Amino acid sequence: MKYDLHNHTYYSKCSNLKPEILIKAAKKKGMDGIAVTDHNTMKGALEARKLNKDKDFEVILGEEIGTNFGDVIGLYLKKEIKSKEFFSVIDEIKAQDGLIIIPHPFRTSSNPNHLFKLPFEKIKNKIDAIECFNARMLPGDNEKSQVVAKRLKIAGTGGSDAHFKFEIGKAYTIFEGSLRRAIKQKKTRYEGTILYGPFGGLLSFFRRRLF
Ligand SMILES: [Zn+2]
Ligand SMILES: [Zn+2]
Repeated sequence: MKYDLHNHTYYSKCSNLKPEILIKAAKKKGMDGIAVTDHNTMKGALEARKLNKDKDFEVILGEEIGTNFGDVIGLYLKKEIKSKEFFSVIDEIKAQDGLIIIPHPFRTSSNPNHLFKLPFEKIKNKIDAIECFNARMLPGDNEKSQVVAKRLKIAGTGGSDAHFKFEIGKAYTIFEGSLRRAIKQKKTRYEGTILYGPFGGLLSFFRRRLF
């Protein structure tokens, strides 16, 4: 199975993606599923879930929460996460039986939320995965995540961090059977390209400021 586990919609200020376009494009690019992970809201995820009528395509309800120590992704959520404090966010996601992924922990960026500020040694038992391939990273950033995940034996995932149509499916997670089980058993793999990332980042920058 191939799932792109990090996607935004127009409910994120830095994206213009309609949920129906996200689903269509992801399927066209060979994805078997996606996670919709808007910044601090589940509106896009809920809309996408409602639009998806295909039983062979899974839409995972997610959210990317900006916490005091950096971004956190919750998957398989039932309701929006209230807190912005890292450890409370973790507790809220766990209480919903969701999965916790730390996205782009070593991303080179001017946005302070893009860098994760806690040592993974300290939290490795509290999280389910590290995003080891994010398509918006600069050369070397993903490799740092991969080294840490391997050293600490934390599952790795891939996601495009798509905010625009051309970015969808540019990174994804590969697994067999159920995603939840594959992550828990650390049997996921990931693939992707960062070739289109800088262009997407630039468009997000302008979208946030101009529209
Ligand atoms: Zn992020
Ligand atoms: Zn994101």
